[in-house]
Amino acid sequence: MIENRKKWQELLRQTRAYLEVLRDGGIVFAEGRFAKSTAGIEPPAAERVESAKAGRSRPMTAEERAALKAALTDPYARLVPRPPAAAGAPLAHPAATPIKRSRETSAPGPPAKPAKVTLKDRTEGAKVIAAAEDLERLRDLISGCYMCGLSAGRTHTVPGEGNPRAALMFIGEAPGYHEDVQGRPFVGRAGELLTKMIEAMGLRREDVYIANIVKCRPPGNRDPLPEEMLACEPYLKRQIELIRPKIICALGRIAIQGLLRETTPISQLRGQWRTYQNIPLMPTFHPAYLLRNPGGKRFAWEDLKAILARLGRPVPAGRSGP
Ligand code: SF4
Repeated sequence: MIENRKKWQELLRQTRAYLEVLRDGGIVFAEGRFAKSTAGIEPPAAERVESAKAGRSRPMTAEERAALKAALTDPYARLVPRPPAAAGAPLAHPAATPIKRSRETSAPGPPAKPAKVTLKDRTEGAKVIAAAEDLERLRDLISGCYMCGLSAGRTHTVPGEGNPRAALMFIGEAPGYHEDVQGRPFVGRAGELLTKMIEAMGLRREDVYIANIVKCRPPGNRDPLPEEMLACEPYLKRQIELIRPKIICALGRIAIQGLLRETTPISQLRGQWRTYQNIPLMPTFHPAYLLRNPGGKRFAWEDLKAILARLGRPVPAGRSGP
């Protein structure tokens, strides 16, 4: 019974995410059918008249139906910005005018206002991201991205850093205050602990690659919203394709949700191998959680040792954890 309820809740959550995608793309559900909002892509004049007569909606065109089908099949591939007007220019969507930042500090501000980006723009942008030839190009695209509302409050984008040929990639959830200020991932207290975890494995920070699910800081350090994770995922996918790590270590509940769409508590998921894009993935606790709950460090250490074993590396002598 409880299992069934969980499945229905998950289905409902996914449906809401799909509707967000469609609404964001200018397609709304009204009067029992999907229709395109005139605030999105402008319909042909004749259809506008018909739409006006009908009051609120009109039938979908063949193009819209195809876009809807594609979005429902793989919405993530379509949540990307429009390609730049000129080669080498930042990937900023013309309709997504940069929004004035509401705050300069870490104080929680009002929710960021989503930029108006259509489904078509995202489809075109997906091709640009997928064609990014290296991490530098991807960094440029991210720095000019206004694909979701998180762009409104950022000081810097935080694309990620590390060895572009890393065998091990750590993925967290989102930049915090220090990361936003410096434009680098995991540089606050949680970052210091992550560095210790990496060193306990006999590695250096520069040996691995560190990134987040979203590249801009959520206001007040709240969890990133599903639509923000969806919007940002093409960047992460391309990073992984370019780096081709042997193992991914997902840090915390939100990273797991963003990557695997699993809502199982991290306490149950950690230590169990999964795969993402055919790469073995180990879920473990987020360093920020470990700072609040030091008792979890011994479990995280078990997960890191499992990663070392899979990499074929010995546990450094005398090490018993971070
Ligand atoms: S979080 Fe990702 S998708 Fe959203 S604006 Fe930043 S880079 Fe773009």
